[in-house]
Amino acid sequence: MDILSKKLKKNIIILGAGFAGVKCALDLEKLAKKDKSLSSNFNIVLIDKNNYHLYTPTLYEVASTAKADASGSVLKKVITTPIENIVKNKNIKFLQGEIIDIDFKKRTVDFSDQTVINFEYLVLALGSKPTYFGIEGLKEYSLSLKWLNDGIRIRNKIRNKFLEKRNGEEIKIIIGGSGPNGVEFSAELAGYIKELNNIYNKKIEANIKLIDGSSHILPGFEHNVVKKALKRLEYLNIKTINGFVILKVDKLRVYLKQLPPSNEPRENFTPEEKTEDYDILIWSGGVEANSLLMHIDMSKEKRGRIETNQFLGCLPPDKHLDVAKNIFAIGDNSCFYDPKTQRPVPGTAKIAIEQAKIAAKNIYNLINKKPKELYKIKPLPFAIPIGGKYALTKWGPFLFTGFTGWIIKQLIELYYLYSVTKKASVIFNWWRGIRIFSKND
Ligand SMILES: Cc1cc2nc3c(=O)[nH]c(=O)nc-3n(C[C@H](O)[C@H](O)[C@H](O)COP(=O)(O)OP(=O)(O)OC[C@H]3O[C@@H](n4cnc5c(N)ncnc54)[C@H](O)[C@@H]3O)c2cc1C
Repeated sequence: MDILSKKLKKNIIILGAGFAGVKCALDLEKLAKKDKSLSSNFNIVLIDKNNYHLYTPTLYEVASTAKADASGSVLKKVITTPIENIVKNKNIKFLQGEIIDIDFKKRTVDFSDQTVINFEYLVLALGSKPTYFGIEGLKEYSLSLKWLNDGIRIRNKIRNKFLEKRNGEEIKIIIGGSGPNGVEFSAELAGYIKELNNIYNKKIEANIKLIDGSSHILPGFEHNVVKKALKRLEYLNIKTINGFVILKVDKLRVYLKQLPPSNEPRENFTPEEKTEDYDILIWSGGVEANSLLMHIDMSKEKRGRIETNQFLGCLPPDKHLDVAKNIFAIGDNSCFYDPKTQRPVPGTAKIAIEQAKIAAKNIYNLINKKPKELYKIKPLPFAIPIGGKYALTKWGPFLFTGFTGWIIKQLIELYYLYSVTKKASVIFNWWRGIRIFSKND
């Protein structure tokens, strides 16, 4: 820490070593190599409460791998990369610690151990957390999947519940939220129960239901993607309940209320109300910004993300204040409105990486008094794995389904992993992950 409090160099502080933070630090370091004014006058400091970078796209597989020897430590190795390895031989200082406050006027960040560090430039990349929309009982009784430990907890809870059941009984799993995360997870869980039946020589039926207020699964996706996903879910015997919102939750059941279809006037509509029992309830219905962002004084949207301009600079609470100068928000912390739709771009790893490149470039340009670069939304590939070696993968105009989609998904995953960590060891972990996680398939 000493070196950071000396006034020899100024600090470019990057908060969070997720997709956005790591990519931003690596790109800045690359730019600093070319530019002595950056490397001799600034420290690049990456801060995270954990000492590893978590590769979230394979978290579902952690939560649903039946492989008996896949212990917590093996799984951790497969889906995390030590930050020490990422910054090795790079001019990036990594500090492990929890940030509890940011003072935009004094331009400092505060750690939970009372260390305080100054910054000249700041990048907010602290990610998000599940949001429960104030639904009674939901936080208390559901399981959410965001961090590594959540994955291991869900895996163990389902296994324990499975072991309590007798042959012929069913295990009832409800997943709230039928976006890509809910769809992928429901299919993984179907495979998990199948594999548990094989391992323990039991006959427990998986009764898996996806519930969502929107009128169909995968809201926002093209019609043919939705149709294919639905067919695949039917094949896996996963039921979907759409057009119903969760009103409240207790220890045994969820209480649902029907929403009026968009084409029907509300006054003619009598909503159906019903309940669904569950053994395991998973919540995959939405995220909001990291709690730290909730307290800070910047212009924010309703889920706490910081509104950013076209250069990904934060917008101040009042446009006459200059507290947001040299402060960027990227990845799940940023609320950037798509100029075409006026809607915020979604929080995905791919978008986090793209935004990180722009933030790094703009810090470099500001230091060098060059014009800033605009953030332009690019059409990015997406992949929705739906159980086994099956995925719906869109790359450019092409939609790949089934095994081909799954292979392309693995390659996209490798590309993103490598672009963040830049280490050959990720290829080994990627391959090891495929072997462990394909066990249920
Ligand atoms: C289960 C799951 C599956 C997903 N699958 C996909 C997918 O297939 N494809 C895709 O594109 N996106 C996927 N996403 C979304 C993707 O993970 C996020 O959009 C992405 O991680 C955002 O990157 P980020 O850098 O903004 O935040 P994160 O990656 O969440 O990183 C935030 C970092 O900040 C650190 N941090 C938080 N608070 C503090 C603090 N107070 N002090 C210090 N450090 C702190 C955290 O430890 C973390 O390392 C998935 C998300 C989940 C949860």
